[in-house]
Amino acid sequence: MAKPYPYFVSLNEAISLCQETQIKLNSEIIPISESINRIVSTDIRAMVNDPGFDNSAMDGFAVIHSDTTSPPSKLSIIGSLMAGSSDNHKLSSGQAIRIMTGAPIPQGADSIIPIEACTVNGDEVILNQPSKPHFIRKLGENFAKGQIIFSPGEVMSPEKIALCAAAGVAKISVFKKLRIAVISTGDELKSLDQKLEHGQIYESNSYGLAALVSIYGHDATRFPNVVDDLDTLRNTLNKAAENHDCIITSGGVSMGDKDFVRILMEQEGEIKFWRVKMRPGSPPIFGSWNKVPIFGLPGNPVSSHVVFRAIVGKWLTSLTNSADINNRQINAILAEDIKTQEGFTTFRRVELFVEGDVTFARLKGHQGSGNIAGIAMSDGLTIIEPDEMGNKGDVCKIILL
Ligand code: AMP
Ligand code: MG
Repeated sequence: MAKPYPYFVSLNEAISLCQETQIKLNSEIIPISESINRIVSTDIRAMVNDPGFDNSAMDGFAVIHSDTTSPPSKLSIIGSLMAGSSDNHKLSSGQAIRIMTGAPIPQGADSIIPIEACTVNGDEVILNQPSKPHFIRKLGENFAKGQIIFSPGEVMSPEKIALCAAAGVAKISVFKKLRIAVISTGDELKSLDQKLEHGQIYESNSYGLAALVSIYGHDATRFPNVVDDLDTLRNTLNKAAENHDCIITSGGVSMGDKDFVRILMEQEGEIKFWRVKMRPGSPPIFGSWNKVPIFGLPGNPVSSHVVFRAIVGKWLTSLTNSADINNRQINAILAEDIKTQEGFTTFRRVELFVEGDVTFARLKGHQGSGNIAGIAMSDGLTIIEPDEMGNKGDVCKIILL
């Protein structure tokens, strides 16, 4: 019987069906020191020029270039300038001023000679080379006061935080973090403080999924494991929906009799799609529970991880119009044939190696979707498109892990 929702869709369809569900994020103002991985929500403008004044890029001497064009040239040292100095020196032909990196260029000087190219004799210096105009860092050459340094959607990194400080920006407006519930389901799951009986395993998906949520700049709440029971699951989803912006479950979305996430969603939730043509990770379900977006990820540890990276991460970044910086890709040459299935997107775990100047990818570890060790030790995931074969020698996109 035809399903009343899109069933077994391509990965691209799944990604675009998710886009139809949008949530609006509020903003807050925070100090830059707390902004790592946070997402900028308004334009940020520089408060100062960088550099704020012409200054030396080297420890050496500030000189007049035309004095130095036929080395060796002898100049008299008339003073010295340190970083932070505001002394008002003026240089004339035949003179040099000792200068340190970051110190303002004195009036009259147009170039720098590094200390290594000089011989100092008391208050005289002999320049063994011509001086270098480009050793002067020019006023405003990096950015200008008032210039937009970041636009909404930018994800803060250590370098961007430092740039804010250099630009005199102490606080920035960022999107409030989404509160995302992470719920694992399965009778066999035990938490790390419990003893395992035969047939039981440590619950691991919620740790990986919560860490993924956090590298995407949001807050995860890890719920206690939910047993395979319809009422318990319903109660947990109701509770999660009360104070979360999104719910991510793992397990219970396949065709099994105890796959209660899927069964409950079919009976009482709203489904946007179920099952995706991807390997691994074909069972996911997406929709809403009490109007809160819900991603039902597969239970197999590799599958849940891959589906997050392939689908959930894309949705999260679309909400803030951000680049998916956790999904950096390179091209590599396949060093062996990789098993694919026509019409499916294939994410195999690979290691990368370089021969000559070519980067190759080969399978890493046993590729079962239950093998979390395999993905943990891999350098990347292949993205073999539905119409590609995955043959040895093919160019293949790799998501770097
Ligand atoms: P399911 O999707 O519920 O059929 O589970 C598929 C496989 O993933 C089974 O072998 C489960 O034991 C395993 N699994 C499900 N949830 C988790 C979890 N949270 N952590 C680790 N393994 C899991
Ligand atoms: Mg299960």
